[in-house]
Amino acid sequence: MKNVVIFGAPGSGKGTQSDKMIEKYGFGHISTGDVLRSEIKNGTELGKTAKDFIDKGQLIPDELMIDILASVYDGFGKEHKGVIFDGFPRTIPQAEALKKMLSKRGHRVAAMIELDVPEDELMKRLLLRGQQSGRSDDNEETIKKRLNVYHNQTSPLIEWYKGEGIHHHIAGMGELERIFGDVCKVIDSL
Ligand code: AMP
Repeated sequence: MKNVVIFGAPGSGKGTQSDKMIEKYGFGHISTGDVLRSEIKNGTELGKTAKDFIDKGQLIPDELMIDILASVYDGFGKEHKGVIFDGFPRTIPQAEALKKMLSKRGHRVAAMIELDVPEDELMKRLLLRGQQSGRSDDNEETIKKRLNVYHNQTSPLIEWYKGEGIHHHIAGMGELERIFGDVCKVIDSL
């Protein structure tokens, strides 16, 4: 199993690059944001809890996310050559829990791929996405909060994964195919 964490700020292109990796490599995909949005749509208890946090631009508590993650991961069959973690981990406790959950199953994260995009570009992309998709958290006020949360709680994971020796930096600005080419170089080297 080639488990890959696709990492970056909101709007850095994690979802777009994940779709291309799924198509090329047949990987499974866990987007915790998508899981939460589907819980909200289905009106579940988890969805109700998640909505309050998402609308405020805050993270859902780690314990809740970690439970969800293990059950989604175990739902993937052996036909997948790997799993992409998109939007998880977002905190150091989540990264530690992911490592533990995978090692219990004899698996590991093979690479953490960081898509690096400047802040003014992130804001532009997210405002545009908000107009097109109608995502309730893609408005200027909530985007600013989410970018703050990224800097304070999530970006320390870059150093954490450097410590694990599996961090790969990719410039996330410019031509989509060039960015995907850089992603493929990492995956093909695993
Ligand atoms: P995303 O679609 O990945 O941008 O996630 C949208 C929102 O869902 C985030 O702003 C958080 O409120 C919540 N969320 C998604 N993934 C996580 C996670 N791993 N930990 C905590 N909250 C999360």
